[in-house]
Amino acid sequence: MIEVKNLVKRFEGFTALDGLSITVPTGAVYGLVGPNGAGKSTLIRHLAGIYRQDGGEVLADGEPIFDNPAVKRKIAYIPDEIFYYTQATVLDMMRFMREVYPSFDAACFEKLGEAFALDTKRPMRKLSKGQQKQAAFWLALSQRPQIVVLDEPVDGLDPVMRRQVWSLLLSDVAERGTTVLVSSHNLRELEDVCDHVGIMNRGKMLLEHSLSELQDNVVKIQLAFAEDTALPDDLTILHQSRTGRLQQLILRGRADETSARLALLNPLFLDVLPLSLEEIFIYELGGAEHEVKDIVL
Ligand code: ADP
Ligand code: MG
Repeated sequence: MIEVKNLVKRFEGFTALDGLSITVPTGAVYGLVGPNGAGKSTLIRHLAGIYRQDGGEVLADGEPIFDNPAVKRKIAYIPDEIFYYTQATVLDMMRFMREVYPSFDAACFEKLGEAFALDTKRPMRKLSKGQQKQAAFWLALSQRPQIVVLDEPVDGLDPVMRRQVWSLLLSDVAERGTTVLVSSHNLRELEDVCDHVGIMNRGKMLLEHSLSELQDNVVKIQLAFAEDTALPDDLTILHQSRTGRLQQLILRGRADETSARLALLNPLFLDVLPLSLEEIFIYELGGAEHEVKDIVL
């Protein structure tokens, strides 16, 4: 379990994380989403034990992460920008990791080799960016970590390899109850793999929910009336568009309750549509980002 409580991080007076709290339950796959500059990488570097916080707590299984080798051994981290020692090959990195992480499993490394078509004797810097990412996944999974922290992990991977790494990661979660936190701007990708989602913006958590809760909180409805009909004004409409008679509404609330209320208005047509994570993200962030859109040049 990962717990972050009121985390504050400042860079030369700029507040990158502003009292941020998040909880990732054991065995969860938690997707962290947010626009560029939201503070995702900064948060993740605290979870990897790289940054010391200016305030608040950063805990793994109840223990502080920073400067705590016993806790850091349980954590695998794949950074957004991958770094390897210049001359190091995959095999060199494997030997290095084996020394650093007691849980590193050489047999597992062997076995996973089938999934990754990489030349283990080539210096890493001669591998493509995508191949370096593959190597990072290979090494991270072989570490047999209890917690996996991934910063935009599938950037640079081809579609086949993306599916491959998600499948390896999710089967690890299923078999060993690994806890995963993954940041991405690719919401569609997170939708398929995550069971929890946190949306952050400007160093704060905007909302944090399980995916099913999120989908229960916002609803997309298409409806048409025979004549102009006013909607009840206590409904919270996040977005409204119209094509002829057909209206599309994004509303806050539960699908069953909201559609039952609208059905009372006797529409000609009423349908509840599935909402993608991307739509939830856009409409939840809509308010917070409003000032950006209002800038007039
Ligand atoms: P994200 O990963 O969500 O795109 P980051 O965590 O990288 O965002 O950055 C959050 C904010 O903190 C940005 O405004 C960024 O400019 C600032 N920031 C990040 N790292 C540093 C640093 N080392 N020094 C100064 N400012 C930083
Ligand atoms: Mg980042």
